[in-house]
Amino acid sequence: MTKRNRPWGYQDVFEGPTPDWQLGQDTIAVRAGLARSGFGETGEAMYLNSGFTYDSAEQAESAFMEETEHFLYSRFANPTVAMFENRLAALEGAEACFATPTGMSAMFASVAALVKSGDRIVASAAMFSSCYVILTEILPAWGITTVLVEGTDEKDWAAALSEPTKVVFVETPSNPLMEIVDLRMVSKLAHKVGATVIVDNVMASPVMQKPLELGADVVMYSATKHIDGQGRVLGGAILGTKDYIKNVVLPFTRHTGQSLSPFNAWVLLKSLETMAMRVERMNENAMAVAEFLAAHPKVESVSYPFLPTDKNYELAKSQMAGGGSTVSFKVAGSKEDTFKVMNALTVIDISNNLGDSKTLITHPASTTHKRLAEEVRLKMGVTPNTVRMSIGLESASDLIEDLRRALSVI
Ligand SMILES: *Cc1c(COP(=O)(O)O)cnc(C)c1O
Repeated sequence: MTKRNRPWGYQDVFEGPTPDWQLGQDTIAVRAGLARSGFGETGEAMYLNSGFTYDSAEQAESAFMEETEHFLYSRFANPTVAMFENRLAALEGAEACFATPTGMSAMFASVAALVKSGDRIVASAAMFSSCYVILTEILPAWGITTVLVEGTDEKDWAAALSEPTKVVFVETPSNPLMEIVDLRMVSKLAHKVGATVIVDNVMASPVMQKPLELGADVVMYSATKHIDGQGRVLGGAILGTKDYIKNVVLPFTRHTGQSLSPFNAWVLLKSLETMAMRVERMNENAMAVAEFLAAHPKVESVSYPFLPTDKNYELAKSQMAGGGSTVSFKVAGSKEDTFKVMNALTVIDISNNLGDSKTLITHPASTTHKRLAEEVRLKMGVTPNTVRMSIGLESASDLIEDLRRALSVI
C-alpha cells in the first residue's frame, strides 16, 4: 500500500516511523493521521474530489471486492476526511472513527445503526433537544422503545437497566444545565444487560473528558462545537472499536449518505491542532465568569460543574479534567428581566451556538429547547429565567464587565 492512496481506516497514524515512546496529546493533535502526498506538503492537503481512478478494470474489480485497499468514492471515504478521522481517533484513544456532516447525523447514525424494531433504548432525560426528538419521536415511530431516566439518579438507572437493552445514550455534561452523569456507574449497569453505551461528549469536548476510559463503548461529537471552535463549519464524528465502526456504522452510513465534506474535514483537521489550547483557555474564562456570577445578588443560581459549591462537583472532578466552556445561570427575576439582561450585553452575542471563540448567550426555553413540552423543559430545569452561556476566548475581565453592566439594568 502506498502512502499516496491510503483507504479509510489505515492504521499507520504517523508519517514515517512511529516514535516508540508514549506521545503527548499535543503532539498527537498536530501530527496524528497526517498522510502527505508525493509533494511533501507541510500542511495537510485538501482532497476536494468525489471519485478516484483505477489503473485497470481488474484493479477496480478487486477494489470493490476489498481485496486491495483503494479509495472508491468520497461518500465512503476520502483522504482528507480519513486524516481527520485518524487524528481524532488517536486523540480520543479510540480504535476507529467515522466522520459525519453534522453532530446530529453522528448521533442518529451511532444509535440507528445498532437498533431494529422491537429494541429498547435507555437514555438520560436531560439532553440536546434534537437528540430528544430522535429518541422519543423518530425511533419510536419505527418500533423502538425509549425509556428516559433521571441521569443523576442511580436507582432510576438500575430500574431501567434491569431488562435487556440495546443502547444506553448519555449526554454528560448535559446541555444546558451541566448535569453530570456517572459514566462508570452507568456503563457497569448497561453492560450487564448487553447494552452499548453511547456518550454525547460535545459539552466536555475531547479535551476535558475521555468516556472510553470511563467504561463507555462509543463517543459521538458535534465537531461544529469545540473541534471547529471558530463558528465556521458543521461536522460530527462517531468513535468506537474497529468492529463497531467497520461492521455496524459503515454499512449504515455508506448507503444512507452521511459523509463529511472534505473541505469541512480539512477545516476540522487543522482545528484539532489548536483545540486543547482553545478549550483550556475557554475553561479558565468559564471558571472566572462562574465565580463572578455565583457571588452576584441578581443571579439566583449558577450551574458550572467545577464550582466547588455545584452539586455535581465531586463527580465532575472524578471524570473530567475541567468544567468545560458552558456556564448556565438563572437570573433573579422573570423572563422579561432575563431578556433585559441579554439585550444589555455589548461584547457577548446572543446566539444559540456553543463552543465558539466568541462568547455567546442564549435563552434555551424560547430557542433551543422551545420544541419540548413545557413540563419536559421544567423537568430539565430549563425555566423562563435560565440562560446558557458558551464562554469564548475574549479577555475574562471584559466578559465579567459586560455581565456586571447588563445585570445592573434589572
Ligand atoms: C450541537 C449539539 C449536537 C448537534 O450537533 P450539530 O453539529 O449541530 O448537528 C448534539 N449534541 C449536543 C450536546 C450539542 O450541543
